[in-house]
Amino acid sequence: MRAVVTVAPQQMELVEEAAPIAGPGEALLRVEAVGLCGSDLHLYLGDHPYVTYPQVQGHEFCGTILAFGEGYSGPLRIGQRVAVEPLVPCGSCYPCRHGRPNCCTRLAVLGAHRRGALAELIAVRTTSLYPVGDLDAELAALVEPVSIGLHAVIRGQVTAEDRVVIFGAGPIGQAVLLAARERGAQVLVVDKLERRLALAHRLGAEVVINASHEDVAAAVLSWTDGDGPAVIFEATGVPAVIRQAVELVASAGRIVIIGLSNQEVSLPVVEFTRKELTVLGSRNNAGIFAQAVELVQRQRAAVRALISHRFPLEETPRALAFALEHPTEAEKVLILVGPAATGQALNQQA
Ligand SMILES: [Zn+2]
Ligand SMILES: [Zn+2]
Repeated sequence: MRAVVTVAPQQMELVEEAAPIAGPGEALLRVEAVGLCGSDLHLYLGDHPYVTYPQVQGHEFCGTILAFGEGYSGPLRIGQRVAVEPLVPCGSCYPCRHGRPNCCTRLAVLGAHRRGALAELIAVRTTSLYPVGDLDAELAALVEPVSIGLHAVIRGQVTAEDRVVIFGAGPIGQAVLLAARERGAQVLVVDKLERRLALAHRLGAEVVINASHEDVAAAVLSWTDGDGPAVIFEATGVPAVIRQAVELVASAGRIVIIGLSNQEVSLPVVEFTRKELTVLGSRNNAGIFAQAVELVQRQRAAVRALISHRFPLEETPRALAFALEHPTEAEKVLILVGPAATGQALNQQA
């Protein structure tokens, strides 16, 4: 089989390898579609905290089941299309013992710490497989990023009474928007790219604000009649946005931080007590992957709109280079593998 191996920073090789074999508790999948995201760019560049080479990347993916390891007797069937939850928690640390394996202290993620899906075949634990019904491969590959948005909305306890602000309208911010809208919340989205804001508007944002030339604070305060939003989602990874969230959020409100940054931010401590703030981090998903499958099933057109580009497996290096060189154009970039890559209008805008 063919696999794309990241052998060193910014160096990927398409190699021919022996097919993997499904061990006990595993299934062999024919990979169909793999999404690339920001963490893939960091792994590729070599500035990801967990990076070791060589590695096969790819953690947002789906495939069809070709075979099971010895002794499988569960409900999955050969030929079924499944989305894969790429998390391998230890099962014994404090978060694992308390229902939060998504932030396991020894968490391994397929495509980062362990071999991922940028290959024609992969062997995966059957407990990580979620049947997607009649979803096509492209949509099934988007279940993982959608699960991150859905988990964040669950963390933020969004209700139909809430006015919600989302900073950052990339694929994760848009997934937060979809999940918040399904709960009936009204949503205002902030970004600097008109194209992203137009999409957010289409996906149900009541108000969109372009931070490059509009006064975000004034717009948010007037939209919330001076209260500030009940919940703010930070999906930009820009530290200054966290400070702005602390300033803008309603008293008794929640701030959910999804964006990644190694930088520091200084905050006025008094706001934590004055507003009795709840500030939450949100990482991966905890036990809601099946709910994410259902969300994608309900929101097919909206989820498909997150895809900006498609490349075949052998063009993975070109896909990553494209995403790095065109950060304002590349949203969800998909790698289509095998039959999924043929008959598709590759490299086209969705
Ligand atoms: Zn990702
Ligand atoms: Zn653990």
